[in-house]
Amino acid sequence: MKIIALGAPGVGKGTYTTLMAEEFSIPHISTGEMFRENMRDNTEVGKAVKVFMDSGQLVPDGITLEMLGGRIKQPDCGNGFILDGFPRTIPQADALKKIAKIDAVLNLVAPDRVILDRLSGRRTCRGCGAIYHIRNIPPKKEGVCDRCGGELYQRDDEKEEVIKIRLAEYANKTAPLINYYLKEGILHEVDVSSPISESAKVIEKIRKILKV
Ligand code: AMP
Repeated sequence: MKIIALGAPGVGKGTYTTLMAEEFSIPHISTGEMFRENMRDNTEVGKAVKVFMDSGQLVPDGITLEMLGGRIKQPDCGNGFILDGFPRTIPQADALKKIAKIDAVLNLVAPDRVILDRLSGRRTCRGCGAIYHIRNIPPKKEGVCDRCGGELYQRDDEKEEVIKIRLAEYANKTAPLINYYLKEGILHEVDVSSPISESAKVIEKIRKILKV
């Protein structure tokens, strides 16, 4: 099962794709998280992408494609995967088509006010990348990751001015993918505006869409 999740920054893509990966026992592949890991480890890729990540711009396709292409060739992707944050441009989608046959694209949607609330309250674990929300998905102990004990922080690209640039990048470069996959007949819209405490219902809807 090879799945793509589309959706504006802050809609809940990271949270839902993590849940789906657990439910369907397939790897969760987040290009944003892979870039953040590279930045933490100060790798060549990390150094090259920092300026784009910090300013809310998309990383150039060449760097992104090389990293993603290597990841989906790994043995754990044999039974499928769920892509979170990739593709984000038409050239990325064209390149993906050459290396994988995608079964379904889930377009996650919620009203702007829900998106803004989710973005402004989001906290991410420095250690494992797990996602929390100060009100909606609080950790058991404030500021500490339930999963690995790592420190929770607010991403640099979650400041208001950077959020505006990310939303514009999404509208200009990523939203056209909705039509792209609609034409391919594999796009499904999923409303994720309900509180995360009702995530089981959303996962049930997704199961029906994917017929699993
Ligand atoms: P995310 O964690 O998905 O919100 O991504 C955070 C940042 O990583 C984005 O604002 C981009 O700078 C970069 N990024 C993640 N995925 C991609 C991609 N597929 N193409 C280009 N840039 C990306």
